[in-house]
Amino acid sequence: MIVLLFGPPGCGKGTQSPRIQQWLDIPLIATGDMLRQEIRSRTHLGRGIESVLSSGGYVGDSQMNRLLLRRSHQTDCVNGFLIDGYPRTVPQAIFLDRLLEKRGFAAPIVIHLQVAEDTLLMRLSGRRQCVECKRVHNIYTNPPQREGFCDCGVPLEERNDDRPEVVRARLQLYTEQTSPVLDYYRGENCFTLDGHRHQDEVFGEIQGIIESRMVRVRHQAPQAVRAALG
Ligand SMILES: [Zn+2]
Repeated sequence: MIVLLFGPPGCGKGTQSPRIQQWLDIPLIATGDMLRQEIRSRTHLGRGIESVLSSGGYVGDSQMNRLLLRRSHQTDCVNGFLIDGYPRTVPQAIFLDRLLEKRGFAAPIVIHLQVAEDTLLMRLSGRRQCVECKRVHNIYTNPPQREGFCDCGVPLEERNDDRPEVVRARLQLYTEQTSPVLDYYRGENCFTLDGHRHQDEVFGEIQGIIESRMVRVRHQAPQAVRAALG
């Protein structure tokens, strides 16, 4: 089972992805977190990525494909995985299709969370992430128990790419770059959901979609895929 989670920054992907991951018992490949990890480690790749991200841009296809390839080869990915933040371009989507086909996976289920821009701006400008446990708080909608600190005790930081001017650039780039990717996937495996609702309601709809596709895949897929689905 391969699930791709789409939606602009602030749409609720960070809330839904751990829930989907736990429910399906598949790993989450969050390319944004992987990129930030490279930056923190001050690797050669990380320094190049930092200058692109701080100006609101996106990392190139070949770097993203390499990152995805490397991660998806790890043993925990054998029964599938959930991806957040990839593919961001049509060439990346084509790369992923070939990779999945080679490994005998069925076509990915594409979940697109749609949220209005003014809502996104409010959600994002209040966002504070913990560098230790990665938990994302929001000073308006999901405040920590103690102001300025994560519930695990570590001081919270505003991510450089959550500053308002960078957010606007990210939203604009997101729309420009992701629209062609969603067009690429548009069809029976692509679902657009209203992301303004409560997270439980959104998660319930995601579960319903995935369950209905699982049944179809079990009936149609070759033996190897049915075995992998369990
Ligand atoms: Zn924390």
